[in-house]
Amino acid sequence: MVIPFNPNDRAKSTATLQVEMVRRASDGEIIEVRNWIATQTEKQIHSLRLKIRRENSENFSCFYCGHDVLLRKHKRGGHYFAHKEKTAAEKADCIYQQNRMISSEERDRIRYHGQREGMRHIKTKELTVRVLRSDPRFSEPEIEKRWTSFSDGWRKPDVASKWNAQQIVFEVQVSNTYPQVVAERTDFYRKQGALLIWIYDRLKEKDWRTLHADNFCSNGQHLFLVDEECVILSET
Ligand SMILES: [Zn+2]
Repeated sequence: MVIPFNPNDRAKSTATLQVEMVRRASDGEIIEVRNWIATQTEKQIHSLRLKIRRENSENFSCFYCGHDVLLRKHKRGGHYFAHKEKTAAEKADCIYQQNRMISSEERDRIRYHGQREGMRHIKTKELTVRVLRSDPRFSEPEIEKRWTSFSDGWRKPDVASKWNAQQIVFEVQVSNTYPQVVAERTDFYRKQGALLIWIYDRLKEKDWRTLHADNFCSNGQHLFLVDEECVILSET
């Protein structure tokens, strides 16, 4: 059977998906795969497939276990995300594995977490912008503006601004970002002559996450956190 191909057609997902929710590394966005694929064209999905497979380009991970995922295409034409390394997902006991049944309660719970994390991310970004705007030493903040580097690809910092002549980018941190991603982004912005500051929306009272600790110790023992109270103080 010959399947006609038109790059401008709407992309379709497969009837059953493998990984139903993914996180996009460039902006931290949590994506519900089925809804999202339906908003893309075949052309967009096919060029993304290549970018995901190339180093230093676009990267997606499983929302549940955090391991890298790839876009795959079924022989009947539907697209889906699958773990890049099946054994890594097995070891992490990921819920999104072939032949594993997910109850509707489990599915709803994961969706709920994903949506909440997405909202916290947006909220923290907005608070960061408000703090910067209330300090005249910072230039007007840019939100999710793409930075392209000839040798290292591109990134989309959550918020970027200038303090005097120094470029500063702020990345919101509401979930577990993996040490490799943190290191790789720090290097990317350093090469561009910019300072990267991670912004948290809460502190763990008792047990610090590894990431909090990594950041604290490599940053001259500073950890940046933004909340409603500090925004109001800045604005007054
Ligand atoms: Zn997974």
